[in-house]
Amino acid sequence: MAQIISGKEVSAGIRAQIRRQTQELAAAGITPGLAVILVGDDSASKVYVANKKKACEEVGFYSEEYIRPADETESELVDLIESLNSRRDINGILLQSPIPPHLDYKKISEHISPLKDVDAFHPYNVGRIMIGDYDFLPCTPAGIMELIASTGVSVAGKRCVVIGRSNIVGKPMAMLLLHADGTVTICHSKTVGLADITKQADILVSAVGRAGFVTADMVKPGAVVIDVGMNRDGNGKLCGDVDFETVQPVAGYITPVPGGVGPMTITMLLKNTLRAAQIQNGL
Ligand code: NAP
Repeated sequence: MAQIISGKEVSAGIRAQIRRQTQELAAAGITPGLAVILVGDDSASKVYVANKKKACEEVGFYSEEYIRPADETESELVDLIESLNSRRDINGILLQSPIPPHLDYKKISEHISPLKDVDAFHPYNVGRIMIGDYDFLPCTPAGIMELIASTGVSVAGKRCVVIGRSNIVGKPMAMLLLHADGTVTICHSKTVGLADITKQADILVSAVGRAGFVTADMVKPGAVVIDVGMNRDGNGKLCGDVDFETVQPVAGYITPVPGGVGPMTITMLLKNTLRAAQIQNGL
């Protein structure tokens, strides 16, 4: 029976550390500052932005929220980003996704200074991650690396399989596992023989976005199973990609949904913002 990896517990430990480091910075007159921009009134995004603000308060950061109307123009948004780029008290800038369809997320977010890109989505930072010389890591994959580390299982030499190849989860996840000396396979919707591949995984990460996608017959006994999916089941209840009830008896470690990967994402955003404040203050 797999041990449950608690994202809440791992996250609490890291946030306590961030709080201590923030107090040390405060003694030097530095308060990490995060600006979050939300365009439109997507209800899920509003909850995420509120959670980010609350998390900032809890660790002692300064934060600002910019709630912009759904008909915001590209130039208005770029002007806002440019003004935040030049502010000394703002160390991290985040453009909450999704933004309304008349705006190009990729094009606009590239105006965020790479030094303040705490999501680590800017092509400059993506390139630095690729070569293994980075200041910021994308929050969800970085949080997953912390969860794997918390099990005591070393990635080095392990067969790692990532299902999903998105720019925000699958691809950077594969890169971080590679940097940790895993032997990595990336699967996607065109992969042939998926279960044969996943069954070889000592570490299996699923980032597909489909409830009940990973079943027990796809999992190697004793594997570390990380469930990134955030889906709704038939009753509207939050669930992951992994069929938890049947996979838990087979796996060695497993993340629940909720309470697994989810809590780590904001924690790693805080970590990036702290790092940004340190770098921008020459520390
Ligand atoms: P995405 O951009 O939709 O990517 C999904 C990936 O799954 C794609 O690469 C797709 O392959 C692959 N896929 C779809 N059907 C498949 C199949 N039958 N077999 C194998 N692969 C298949 O999604 P995302 O942004 O990476 O997010 C994935 C999930 O993680 C979502 O549920 C999202 O809500 C969740 N998420 C959670 C957090 C968190 O903090 N917990 C953060 C981010 C995302 P193709 O590329 O071939 O289409």
